[in-house]
Amino acid sequence: MEESKTFEELNIDEDILEAVRDLGYETATPIQISCIENLLKGYDLIGQSKTGTGKTAAFAIPMIELIDPDDRRMQGVVLCPTRELCMQSAEEIRKLLKYKPGIRVVSVYGGQPINYQISDMRKGFQIMTATPGRLLDHLRRHTLKLDQVQMVVLDEADEMLDMGFKEDIDLILSQMPEPRQTVLLSATMGEDVKAIAREFMEDPVEIRTSEDDHLTVDEISQEYFDVKAKMKTEALCRLLDLEMPERALIFCNTKKKAAEIAEELKSRDLPADALHGDLKQAQRDLIMRRFRSGDIKWLVATDVAARGLDIHGIDVVFNYDLPDEMEFYVHRIGRTGRAGKTGKSYTFIVGKEIEKLAQIQEYTGSKVTPRTLPTLQEIEAVHKNRLLQEVRQILKGGSPSLPSAGKYMADVEALIADGFDAKAVASALMAKLLYTPSADPLSKRPALIVSDSDSMVKLYFSVGRKQGVRVKDLVGLIAAKCGVPAASVGHIDILETFSYVDVPSSVASDVIGTLDGDTIKGFKLGVQMASSK
Ligand code: ADP
Ligand code: MG
Repeated sequence: MEESKTFEELNIDEDILEAVRDLGYETATPIQISCIENLLKGYDLIGQSKTGTGKTAAFAIPMIELIDPDDRRMQGVVLCPTRELCMQSAEEIRKLLKYKPGIRVVSVYGGQPINYQISDMRKGFQIMTATPGRLLDHLRRHTLKLDQVQMVVLDEADEMLDMGFKEDIDLILSQMPEPRQTVLLSATMGEDVKAIAREFMEDPVEIRTSEDDHLTVDEISQEYFDVKAKMKTEALCRLLDLEMPERALIFCNTKKKAAEIAEELKSRDLPADALHGDLKQAQRDLIMRRFRSGDIKWLVATDVAARGLDIHGIDVVFNYDLPDEMEFYVHRIGRTGRAGKTGKSYTFIVGKEIEKLAQIQEYTGSKVTPRTLPTLQEIEAVHKNRLLQEVRQILKGGSPSLPSAGKYMADVEALIADGFDAKAVASALMAKLLYTPSADPLSKRPALIVSDSDSMVKLYFSVGRKQGVRVKDLVGLIAAKCGVPAASVGHIDILETFSYVDVPSSVASDVIGTLDGDTIKGFKLGVQMASSK
């Protein structure tokens, strides 16, 4: 067992202790104990500890201890693989500096105007968080000097080397003064990375702070779903529908896929958006801010969001695609279950990927258990309970976010005056609100093996782009008029003057019967089975 210590026992400055108390940290985590003790003694260090175990404070506290606040030259450098991490680490360091106003932190990363950074640096600072590329830019422009650096930290060290930053990092470290302390941290670290790291380190202390051989924390439950490639989005919608997570991260392997899934979710009016490397820096910042604030609940991302990000309250991490590299599985799911909290991870696998998942389990030392997707009936039951709960709240005069019970009283009285029974009216309203088609495109038969195409049928709609029709409009129309849940509407292809919409076969004739002859955006709508040619 690891010993446990309070921060007070760690021989750190009272101003820092005060800030740590304000942050609500009680005991130091094992990596924090090792880092603080060893770095204060002046050693170099290679540290591996699981995701969410507080590695930032582990290096930041001793770094702050080292710094001379009266000298406004750069004394500490933190290299990070992504711009988001640069900003996040700087924020955490600033929180620890709450009672040390003399120490200033700046961040430099690509995508932000270099002149802005230069004027920010001119105000004087002691700590910099940086991506390696941008730090080198500043060195080449002579807008930055390394000669006073006492400590350099490579956070997510293995990732920076994997991303091809090795030459940049070599160049940066070779220009650092000696003696200085070099620190390498990550949740995953192969022998090769350690070997490379040793070139720049002097007799480093090596720490691996886990009592077991697992790379993932026990607080994260890990489950997988064996699905057909074509049904992944349906599966995703269904799980989101079932759980309604307050915050979820959905990882895809490509930027294109991430953008596509986010669009798909948005077209169904779900609170989702995408984060990937093709977006401009300002957009990335905005999306991160909106995700942190809860404005975006479900973020569909590439691996730019896999490393290091610390966002409170992520309930579920989805691997929509199984990651190509095993380490990424560890980092992706590590965005939940942080600082001792619990979290869930759901991984979709298609066919032979089960073998890759077995390798991942061997690598992480933890088990991923199989699960079947919820049926439409199960989802309906969940919706029903949610609805009943809200109705009870409305009846009790409940919450300001809900309508008042009196609003439709006159309409209900009119129905009753027509001779309908009040109970029957209430039940009919619930039936209307909760309607789900009887056949489930996914379940019943061993649905995950059956070809999915035979349970979905393609319908022809006589409107398209020219009529200003979007995916959202068609999903909305089908949901509103036919009672088919948005999540059950399949792929939609909007062409110039017509569109194709996949719907579960069991509701196809209902949809045709209801919508053929209807209007959309002022245009008369024709709906029929798409011909097979
Ligand atoms: P890692 O880099 O190991 O993934 P972070 O440094 O991002 O972890 O910290 C994860 C979360 O834990 C952060 O929200 C941080 O504020 C919190 N945290 C850090 N140290 C402690 C502590 N000693 N006690 C409680 N929470 C902590
Ligand atoms: Mg970290």
